[in-house]
Amino acid sequence: MELMRRWGLAERIRGAGRPGDHPLDIAWVTAVGGHEIHRLDFGTTDTRPAPPCTPEPEQVCPQHWLLPLLAEAVGPGVLPRECRLESFVQDDDQVRATATDLSDGRRLHVNARYLVGCDGAASRVRAALLIAAPTRRRTRVFRNILFRAPRLREQLGPGGAPVYFLTQPPDLRYPLRAMDGRDLYRLTVGDHTSCDALSAVRSAIALETSIEVLSDNVWHLTHRVPERYRQGRVLLAGDAAHTLSPSGGFGMNTGIANAADLGWKPAAELAGWAGPTLLDSYEQERRPVAEHSLAEADGNLRRTLDRRLPTEILLDTAQGARARTELARGIERSGVRREFEVPDMHFGYRYASPVIVPDDVTEYDWCADLVAGGRAPHVWLGPGSSSLDLFGSGFHLVASGSHPDLPGLEAVARAFEVRRVPLGLTRAPAYRSSYALVRPDGHVAWHGAELPVDAGGLVDVVRGGRR
Ligand SMILES: Cc1cc2nc3c(=O)[nH]c(=O)nc-3n(C[C@H](O)[C@H](O)[C@H](O)COP(=O)(O)OP(=O)(O)OC[C@H]3O[C@@H](n4cnc5c(N)ncnc54)[C@H](O)[C@@H]3O)c2cc1C
Repeated sequence: MELMRRWGLAERIRGAGRPGDHPLDIAWVTAVGGHEIHRLDFGTTDTRPAPPCTPEPEQVCPQHWLLPLLAEAVGPGVLPRECRLESFVQDDDQVRATATDLSDGRRLHVNARYLVGCDGAASRVRAALLIAAPTRRRTRVFRNILFRAPRLREQLGPGGAPVYFLTQPPDLRYPLRAMDGRDLYRLTVGDHTSCDALSAVRSAIALETSIEVLSDNVWHLTHRVPERYRQGRVLLAGDAAHTLSPSGGFGMNTGIANAADLGWKPAAELAGWAGPTLLDSYEQERRPVAEHSLAEADGNLRRTLDRRLPTEILLDTAQGARARTELARGIERSGVRREFEVPDMHFGYRYASPVIVPDDVTEYDWCADLVAGGRAPHVWLGPGSSSLDLFGSGFHLVASGSHPDLPGLEAVARAFEVRRVPLGLTRAPAYRSSYALVRPDGHVAWHGAELPVDAGGLVDVVRGGRR
């Protein structure tokens, strides 16, 4: 949501249609409207307290609402939206691709300086580059059953939740999700669940309610991080660059953060100011984040898979109540909150690459501290105005001290200018370090108490070397 704020989309995503009074809780239940075993209370969008570390609290937005907003923001492109990449070849100067316009079958030829394969988990681009992406765990097969239940929200009342973790032996142990907070829901089941979609939904919901099944799709859960993210002028992003278990909700978030790290680098190449190693830093910075997300998501999945569900929890008796209390204790002890509340996963990682000037900070608070390679922290600069609003186009030098070195600042500005590297400059009491150089993606390229003597050397490092 911080990135969406940068791209001018945060408010539109919040206004996309999800009701603000819908509970954000996570509930473990034998069935929706049946026995509740455990609940994490997160309030509602309207009532939760503002988080201290970001101007943009998280927002649930189903993908079928998000994609049209993103497409509209990007605007009409060179290619029609409904087209399929068929093949491509690259040489030292360009990529030549052929595609099919799916509206009329027309063959399209596209020449470009770069190609980014954002074509999902089964990426054809990745396969064509022969980049290995061995799966780390046994592939699991699931079914997603999408259905409408127009009365369910009203029937559940304030006890509703966006995510119900089913704990129904023998088979139902995956989430039933309120997709739009209104009438659209998704039930995930293991593919060995042989019953038809309507029966599966009926056994997941204990209440009498009308249900219309909209789709029943099989999907494969793989755990992959390809060995490389780049070959020549072709790069990988999104699920093409990492597929991981949905447990934790890292997939789309990691993909969007890929775009933020990658986007400005080919743009710098095209504008003529990137050094020779800038584009390589994309893989050096983002691949470790994918590895970390994969491990965390896998841990979350394992917690769910390993949970033993005794049949007694289904009983409407004192014995059943005792079994449910015992299970609730186990759920709590297993640390489930981490699956739903891990701001450090989204904000706390640091990049270490040749285009970051390292510091010697090893222990830090990701929420408040400025560290080399980390996300520049959010600080309110005025009503509704965050330090994050400074970043997004070009580099930005923030001078936080009360007596800035004005000749030094001029020297830095000149060093950027002669290399045609865009730089913004703000004097504001934002950070503890007197000076912070923040990249277009909001990460700290350098910080220090004093400006460097060799300003040109600094610029050459953060732009990826001398040209
Ligand atoms: C059950 C489930 C729940 C999830 N929940 C969350 C969550 O809560 N939070 C979260 O962050 N993530 C979540 N994810 C992960 C998230 O859905 C993915 O990470 C995200 O959709 C990946 O986006 P993408 O654009 O990289 O790939 P995709 O969404 O797979 O899009 C790839 C696109 O490329 C197109 N394409 C493929 N081949 C070609 C070609 N040859 N030519 C042209 N186009 C092509 C496809 O048609 C598709 O439109 C979940 C995933 C699942 C399965």
